[in-house]
Amino acid sequence: MSQPRTAVARPVIAVAGLGIESSTFSPAVTEAPAFHPQRGADVLDRYPFLAPGEPLREAADWRGALVGKALPGGTVTAAAFAELSAELLAILGELGPVDGLWFDIHGAMTVAGLDDAEAVLLARVREVVGPDVLVSTSMDLHGNVSRDLVHRSDLITCYRTAPHEDAMETKERAARNLVDLLVSGAPRPVKAWVPVPVLLAGEQTSTRVEPARSVYAAVEEVAALPGVVDAALWVGYAWADEPRNRAAVVVTGPDPRAVADGAERLARGFWAARRDFAFVAPTGTLDACLDTALAATARPYFISDTGDNPTAGGAGDVTWGLEQVLARPEFTDPSGPVVIYASLPGPAAVETAARAGVGATVTVTAGAEVDDRHAGPLTLTGVVHAVRHGDRDAETEVVLRVGSVLVILTRLRKPYHHEHDFTRLRLAPREAAVVIVKIGYLEPELYAMAADWKMALTPGGVDQDLTRLGHRRIHRPMYPFDPAMPDPDLTARLIPPADAAQEA
Ligand SMILES: [Zn+2]
Repeated sequence: MSQPRTAVARPVIAVAGLGIESSTFSPAVTEAPAFHPQRGADVLDRYPFLAPGEPLREAADWRGALVGKALPGGTVTAAAFAELSAELLAILGELGPVDGLWFDIHGAMTVAGLDDAEAVLLARVREVVGPDVLVSTSMDLHGNVSRDLVHRSDLITCYRTAPHEDAMETKERAARNLVDLLVSGAPRPVKAWVPVPVLLAGEQTSTRVEPARSVYAAVEEVAALPGVVDAALWVGYAWADEPRNRAAVVVTGPDPRAVADGAERLARGFWAARRDFAFVAPTGTLDACLDTALAATARPYFISDTGDNPTAGGAGDVTWGLEQVLARPEFTDPSGPVVIYASLPGPAAVETAARAGVGATVTVTAGAEVDDRHAGPLTLTGVVHAVRHGDRDAETEVVLRVGSVLVILTRLRKPYHHEHDFTRLRLAPREAAVVIVKIGYLEPELYAMAADWKMALTPGGVDQDLTRLGHRRIHRPMYPFDPAMPDPDLTARLIPPADAAQEA
């Protein structure tokens, strides 16, 4: 099924792609500017391995089209996708004929009214560049891999670590494998795809711990086998509701037997481990986590308010967690245990508190402007403890002391990942009894600071309790939604190359 190809000494390769992780369980939406698109030669500046003088840069004539990457957020609007993809395709058309295209995406982009957005975009890209151009697709392991996306790609791979320490290494591998294939003139690789009916939260699948560590170690082993060029295993993205959302394996290479065997081995390994994926910290309800924290002598005790984690796609302005904290009788007296809560956006509240100044007592209302499904806007009366202007994300931050709780309010949503995020607000997290952060697994500085830590399974756009989110469109049965499901068909599907018709 593969045609002989002509070797190209120094191929012309276009670079294009859009990347975001977008939760369809958050009412937030993402517009075009959030992608910070780069165009033309600026695109190449994103990649250290494509800097002038680097061997890979010199091995091909790289032409940037358009690459845009957004922080995790809500569904991309149809208008934003139309605008960005039209510009990407227009620039690609102006580049002239190319031999290859590196498609640099995340793979969890949800667009309003559209399924499988990245495969749709790649189909349009192929209409511009033609079916004979070789495409190498690189992704986040939290992306989703449909049969169609594999069909339209000649090479396809993803990260092998979470947290993603190998992100740039993966992109470089995707670019290098494309150059090698074009220069060799070898036929298009064979692709073996296995969808795995499992959907897990990112916080259950860190490759630093078992079982993901061993499951992912096997990816490297399969990739090193004779007849295999690359191997990839996707966890998938749990907070969107499309038929494509699930784990998947793709192994590519010249040898159909080797890629099929490798893909089946990885799929079986992931399936066999499905019940062993555990959260990276003990979990509980927020109330249970607070009970444990207050009974503990370890200070500071960290609690992740995980359901509204803005760096995973949560709106960031859910008030449910803070409302629970403020309702606890232990914290009503200012001399109670010190709790730091990070954070809640509320532009009007921030303006009022900043104008009143440090030391003033104010009554303000914040939160639930974007996501009000779990609790409404929260009215707080407290003393202004700190005001800070000029933050890159939050713009303005204020700290309000309500009883013994120090609440960080922001003008715009902001992740709190570093100690200085707290100390420059006159907060001493190391001396607090409890520090609550809207986050999943703790970022390294906070992890190092925490005497102990629990993850509270709170509601929000990235609720970690997947089975209560209300997925309707994913393929069933699916683990853990159907825990007693029989073993699925994990035989490899060999996907025809992009210049061949795809069977139904
Ligand atoms: Zn990821």
